[in-house]
Amino acid sequence: METSGVERRRRRRRVVLVPYPFQGHITPMLQLGSILHSKGFSILIAHTKFSSPNPSNYPHFTFLPLSDNLDGFDTSFHNLLNVMSVINSNCEAPFEEHMMQMVAEEEVCGQQVACIIYDPIMKFADAVANRLKLPSIVLRTTSAAYMHSHIVMFQLLAENLIPLPESQLHAAIPEVHPLRFKDLPLPASMEIPQVVLDFQHTTSATLDDFFSIGPFHKMAPAIPTSLLEEENICLSWLDKQAPNSVIYVSLGSLAIIDEKALTELAWGLAKSEQPFLWVVRPSLVNGSDAMESLPEDLIKTTQERGLVVKWAPQKKVLAHPAVGGFFTHCGWNSTLESICEGVPLICMPCFADQMVNARYLTYVWRVGIELENGRERTIEKAIRTMMVSEEGEVMRQRAFHMKREIERSMNEGGSSYESLNCLAVYLLSYES
Ligand code: UDP
Repeated sequence: METSGVERRRRRRRVVLVPYPFQGHITPMLQLGSILHSKGFSILIAHTKFSSPNPSNYPHFTFLPLSDNLDGFDTSFHNLLNVMSVINSNCEAPFEEHMMQMVAEEEVCGQQVACIIYDPIMKFADAVANRLKLPSIVLRTTSAAYMHSHIVMFQLLAENLIPLPESQLHAAIPEVHPLRFKDLPLPASMEIPQVVLDFQHTTSATLDDFFSIGPFHKMAPAIPTSLLEEENICLSWLDKQAPNSVIYVSLGSLAIIDEKALTELAWGLAKSEQPFLWVVRPSLVNGSDAMESLPEDLIKTTQERGLVVKWAPQKKVLAHPAVGGFFTHCGWNSTLESICEGVPLICMPCFADQMVNARYLTYVWRVGIELENGRERTIEKAIRTMMVSEEGEVMRQRAFHMKREIERSMNEGGSSYESLNCLAVYLLSYES
């Protein structure tokens, strides 16, 4: 009886989710929506028209498209900071208008806005929540260690200890184990752009404490989250490979490399003589069709032992028994998806949180190999070490141990399980 009372209260509670419209941010927000929906909450996704999720994939959610005026705007990787600013300028008014209307109609429709959960980059949502006196929570889709590295970066900046010359970036940051200057979110050798400083003052989250919840993809009912079409041929190809024999290679949805780095990676893969599954998304190489820039004989060599696709069903790939290692840029979703399957990593971080994630993977958890500055020889060696050496096998065992620890944290009584329950209780705690 009591349970159904709680159920009824939850169904009357609407949680408004505001994702940042890029794959690594949208995915965890949709997964959180799915988790909360399975706990009885109604879910509204307020999203930019740019890079919108497909509502027909989520019949259990409702959607609020926000005019972002990004049509014709340069949304490429190099312009991301400006994209962040434009979204925040343009989405605030339509979002506020809709939220005001929703609050005004609460009595009639019998649903109360329990909370706005927003990506910290979508700071306009926080401004609206404050003005309308609605509870709000920030969903950080990165690791806690990354948040720490941000705080450290701004402290160093305040104390004029950065920028530093390139030659000093490998040094450890005094009293900030395990970080080196090169692991900070922005190169410690450069001035921090104003727009980044502006985004530092983003949040006034209403929780006193952080809930570390996740990994969402293991807690959420399975939902499609890819913005690009997944090539399922990967799975039938993997079915034909021996257990733990394949190195999976992907640099996520945003990272860009130059032609030289692409060629080095291709030669490294070819010379390692290990089977590989390689994601070469069309935007991977700046300004060109990535595969066209590879010499034909190299493509032939790689195709003998490998499969190259534009976008893979990554979570299924990493869960496949044939995959024994992941060559990655260390985005936080990729990191979690890999360690959740006990797959060790070769780390080639490119920007933002990827350096700090790589540092933890390689130096603290010791389930990864740090790749120093590309080059085919280094790549070839790292792949062989990961796939066919005793050292690689030890890393695989450690990764498997982490997988088990993560599973324990999600079971009843585990820290992640408890945090999720705390979140649900918190969302119910606001009575109008
Ligand atoms: N991903 C995918 N197929 C691919 C490459 C990536 O589904 O071929 C997904 C991956 O599973 C992850 C997300 O894209 O959930 C990338 O997020 P991450 O945080 O790792 O990196 P980002 O793309 O934000 O740099």
